[in-house]
Amino acid sequence: MSKRRTHWRSDAARALTLLTGIPDPEAAIIACADDLLDEAGVTEPPVPLKMLASFQGVRAIEKADMQPSGRLIAMPRSGLAVSGGHIIQVNRAESPTRQNFTIAHEIAHTFFPAFQARPQTIEDEQTGDYSEDDDEEERLCDIGASALLLPERWLRPLAERREPSLAGLQDIAQTFRASVEATARSIAHLDVWPFALVVWEPGWRKADRHLAEAGQPIPAALRVSRAIASPSFGVYIPRNKSIAEDSSVYQAYQTQTPTSGLDRLTIGERTWELQAESAYSAYNRDGILQPRVISFLRPVRPAQSLDNAG
Ligand SMILES: [Zn+2]
Repeated sequence: MSKRRTHWRSDAARALTLLTGIPDPEAAIIACADDLLDEAGVTEPPVPLKMLASFQGVRAIEKADMQPSGRLIAMPRSGLAVSGGHIIQVNRAESPTRQNFTIAHEIAHTFFPAFQARPQTIEDEQTGDYSEDDDEEERLCDIGASALLLPERWLRPLAERREPSLAGLQDIAQTFRASVEATARSIAHLDVWPFALVVWEPGWRKADRHLAEAGQPIPAALRVSRAIASPSFGVYIPRNKSIAEDSSVYQAYQTQTPTSGLDRLTIGERTWELQAESAYSAYNRDGILQPRVISFLRPVRPAQSLDNAG
């Protein structure tokens, strides 16, 4: 999650703080999620999303052929009673763990007083990007989704019991029926491990991208597509940063097998030594299999740099 402090300004954020009596909207939506888990009597992961949704007036969760990630179809109130109940639809083409995050995101929409008072259908192109420029309600729903799917009460002790590793992260993700990325984001937010999870994809420097896309033979490098890092990891990994071909990360890309090794990453004028565990993890985009590597990085010497060795 972002380290930048948010200055919340929307009516939706304010309504949530008034509802809960908690001045910070982020803490307020987490409290809503915790209250729902308590109300539903959930005692361990994985959380029963269908049951949680039913407590919020959702009568069905459907997989649909659609472009957006999710949809909350609202049934208007008739008098005091909710007629029929709402429906959550998720994109059938997305992975089951992505669908779970989206379901949790749609449940979070029901926490908002405006929805409670006048339910209106909401469509989400995408969930889980926690965008800074996004609508505040959307961001808060991503935070609420994490709190529902990966509650701190179970996530923290589980992560604390494990050594930081890719296998540990994958096991924990499976326990919560969450994606590895969503799980990494939550563990990073708790700062239990000094680690980063980096998604690498072949691509070009910004300056070369349009030339390459126009058919010029410019070789692609393996580049940072997304990076999630805990505060104690101590290194900021910028998007589109490339990794050297002699690295273990690149080897995972080339051989399509898991690798581990000591890699160096030069960022600005500093070179960092990192312990990397990488897995090849192609994914489907519009019916085409896209190559991708996922790396779990640990600092070898936390927050220290080698003397511009690379
Ligand atoms: Zn949404």
